[in-house]
Amino acid sequence: MPDQYDDVTKQLADMGFGKQWHVVEPVRGDLRSTIWIQNTEKGLDVRFELSPAESEDLSDDEKQQRIRNAIENARKRPTGPGEISRCPLCSWDAKVRSGDADHVICDLCGEFKITRTLLATPFNDKASEEARGLLPYLSAHTRQASARGEVVTLDTRNWKQLALAHKTTPLSRRITKLLELVASRSEPGSPVTLNLAAEFPLVDAKSKEQMGFLLDYLVKTGCLQKLPSGQYVMEVKGWEQLQPTAGIPGNCFVAMSFHESLKDAYEHGIYLAVKEDCKMDPVRIDLVPHNDNIVDKIIAEIRTCQFMVADFTGHKAGVYFEAGFARGLGRPVIWTCREDDFKKVHFDIVQFSHIIWKDSGDLRMRLADRIKATIPMTG
Ligand SMILES: [Zn+2]
Repeated sequence: MPDQYDDVTKQLADMGFGKQWHVVEPVRGDLRSTIWIQNTEKGLDVRFELSPAESEDLSDDEKQQRIRNAIENARKRPTGPGEISRCPLCSWDAKVRSGDADHVICDLCGEFKITRTLLATPFNDKASEEARGLLPYLSAHTRQASARGEVVTLDTRNWKQLALAHKTTPLSRRITKLLELVASRSEPGSPVTLNLAAEFPLVDAKSKEQMGFLLDYLVKTGCLQKLPSGQYVMEVKGWEQLQPTAGIPGNCFVAMSFHESLKDAYEHGIYLAVKEDCKMDPVRIDLVPHNDNIVDKIIAEIRTCQFMVADFTGHKAGVYFEAGFARGLGRPVIWTCREDDFKKVHFDIVQFSHIIWKDSGDLRMRLADRIKATIPMTG
């Protein structure tokens, strides 16, 4: 155990957070200042950022706030079946339930599944420069999907492309995502707490340092204000930049059936066309049964999208509703449908020019072309 962390655990005790703290280990190379500590007395397993250097620089108030946040997060961590084990993407400890595919719940990477076949490959080989460079972006994918209620399954076929799609997000888009994150937590004027070590995947950042760099930029340009407590307040300029009435540049709402047979069309067609080929952000809301808020959430996401992709394969009533709502708000809608299903498309929308696709590769190519031709790019 590195001696320099003794100081941190001693400070925790001095601040009244209990005595039985011990450092399990500093976590992962690029998160060096995140430490993982356990309090055996209280049965808590807490991770927080407080490097030896910071423990000298920060005020006591700032330190206490960070520790309180970390303890709060530890209390909220899901419990239930599943072993505490290492997350295959980030190496933090996570809940892992074994099966045909391991089901992982990780504070950093969110909830996702990963197939045995992929786990058996050297995809997460710490010695491989390429894999190491991609893993943070794979965390970005799973974490963001998870935040939208989607549980992604990573396999040997999709993992690399999913990671690359987030690795190539333009800087301007990362900045917008960060503004959106702050906005999603705040009312105008109220301060927001960000936990960089645990939240950088939400904005397609590679590390907490990179997220810090984006935050500094937003402070310098007057979009955010940093308070002495370490919290952030969105300035009027920041709110204006988001322009929710016109939709958030780059946000693409995807309306489609969630049937298993269309999984490939989404993952290798629509998702990659929007994210990889056009550097925009697909947003898809999985239907959660018995969740009363789902309609509100869908409406909110459609209001903030710049445009919509609506796929009519399977003829779900929801897709017709969502596309109609988007048109009512004046958002451009790109209509798509699988060839063998097109004849069943409802009469009212046959008049719009559809992309009639054969397979996911065909869909990806034609959709990307259509987006580039009709939707103003901002990145
Ligand atoms: Zn993880």
